[in-house]
Amino acid sequence: MTSAVVVGSGPNGLTAAVVLARAGVSVRVVEAADRIGGGARTEALMRADVLHDVCSAVHPMGAASPAFRQLRLEEFGLRWRLPELDCAHPLDDGRAALLRRSVGETAVGLGNDREVWQDLIGGLADDFGDIADDVLGPMVRMPRHPVQLAGFGLRALYPATALARVFRDDATRALFAGVAAHSFTRLDRPGSAAAGLMLLAAGHRQGWPVAEGGSQAIIGALAAALIDAGGAITTGMRVERIDEVEPADLILLDVMPSAAVGMLGDRLPTRRARQFARYPHGPAAFKVDYLIDGEVGWSDRDCARAGTVHLGGGIAEIAAAEADAVAGRMPARPFTLVAQQWLADPSRASGSVKPLWAYAHVPHGYTGDATEAVTAQIERFAPGFRSRIIGSVSTSPAEFERGNPNYVGGDIGGGRNDLRHLLARPRLSANPYATGAPGVFLCSSATPPGGGVHGMCGYRAAHAALSYLSR
Ligand SMILES: Cc1cc2nc3c(=O)[nH]c(=O)nc-3n(C[C@H](O)[C@H](O)[C@H](O)COP(=O)(O)OP(=O)(O)OC[C@H]3O[C@@H](n4cnc5c(N)ncnc54)[C@H](O)[C@@H]3O)c2cc1C
Repeated sequence: MTSAVVVGSGPNGLTAAVVLARAGVSVRVVEAADRIGGGARTEALMRADVLHDVCSAVHPMGAASPAFRQLRLEEFGLRWRLPELDCAHPLDDGRAALLRRSVGETAVGLGNDREVWQDLIGGLADDFGDIADDVLGPMVRMPRHPVQLAGFGLRALYPATALARVFRDDATRALFAGVAAHSFTRLDRPGSAAAGLMLLAAGHRQGWPVAEGGSQAIIGALAAALIDAGGAITTGMRVERIDEVEPADLILLDVMPSAAVGMLGDRLPTRRARQFARYPHGPAAFKVDYLIDGEVGWSDRDCARAGTVHLGGGIAEIAAAEADAVAGRMPARPFTLVAQQWLADPSRASGSVKPLWAYAHVPHGYTGDATEAVTAQIERFAPGFRSRIIGSVSTSPAEFERGNPNYVGGDIGGGRNDLRHLLARPRLSANPYATGAPGVFLCSSATPPGGGVHGMCGYRAAHAALSYLSR
């Protein structure tokens, strides 16, 4: 029987493992941490009855993922739960731009920008069902829907700040910039509109849901699917060199390219090893998990109905904060994302006590304490917020990396997201999953389509590995 070892049990590692196991391969997943899940784990951090997503929280790409759909994770217990409003972007003057599920309702709420939103974002959302498979994969291959893909690609190539000029209202521009900023990149550079367009298009089709019971439920469903297909998982085993695991026909690595260099040694062709060792990383996340008693106290009441709230003011301020983080300067007011998962999934909270999830974009390897900067951003749009905090746990870039070697310098996106690395991840190739070492494939978010809990990197890497077998 063909055998495979998958190193790393993040959403991509587990997705790859399920695809291989269902294809009849004998699979073992090896995980360094004591718990599986990588960037999709949930813990009772401060109280046994309140659940915090310690990494990812909100899953527009998970709900839209062709891989997760094909693995039928719902049959293994995964339930998506949607908030009333997907995302709110408050401004200092008390207004907030709102992202609703329906294109039409969002457009109506955006006043002067109604028609532009309908045409630009609505058009992409209509096409997203067809192009999801194309955009969530390597850029160097024959697309299935070239016309629609070209429409997406031409707009995605714009800098987010340039594309945002099609909107007339500063609230709409801020909303767009906040979504584009998910890519941790300079918003005035080509290609920086891509993440925003994709998240908005996916959101208008599937919403921005959370997983019932916490993001760990995605991992629970993947692990159950793997066991069901005959796979096995070992935790508490950090692989430093690949010969520490049993010989296997296929090896899939849910790790960063630089880690693969150390693991594979001279199995990697020299040129590839050099390329992988130089693979660049982006800015970092500084996370604060709060335990709050009562309401957040948003100035704009609609924010209290939104699963995700983006904090960073107008587009110029967000673009400047992102440019600072990329350049290695700590922004005075870092772009901050907040999630209120209990709105969609009340099981996360206990009575009036709730887990508020927040993280800020900070420079790569930032060594300071950004807790106050994150709290101040929330307080700015929710005066009195501090008085509701009854506990908090902060996670610095270094602590992220200690908990998961993939988060190099606190980069949670699997590498830099500039245009070059959107197109060539980790290198320009029709098969970017192949490492050049026979039978060894990368399947982490350092491969297309990049960061996020969608399993598409693992899915495509597993198919690349199966094609290699059948050569
Ligand atoms: C604070 C934060 C917020 C986020 N928010 C969101 C969000 O809301 N929505 C979203 O879609 N995404 C979000 N993400 C990003 C998302 O979590 C990642 O993009 C995703 O988890 C990447 O999956 P992966 O399988 O490639 O790697 P990971 O999830 O990083 O998993 C890699 C696994 O491999 C293990 N490993 C690494 N090296 C070794 C080794 N040598 N030996 C054995 N095991 C090893 C690690 O311990 C880890 O378990 C967030 C991430 C963080 C940290």
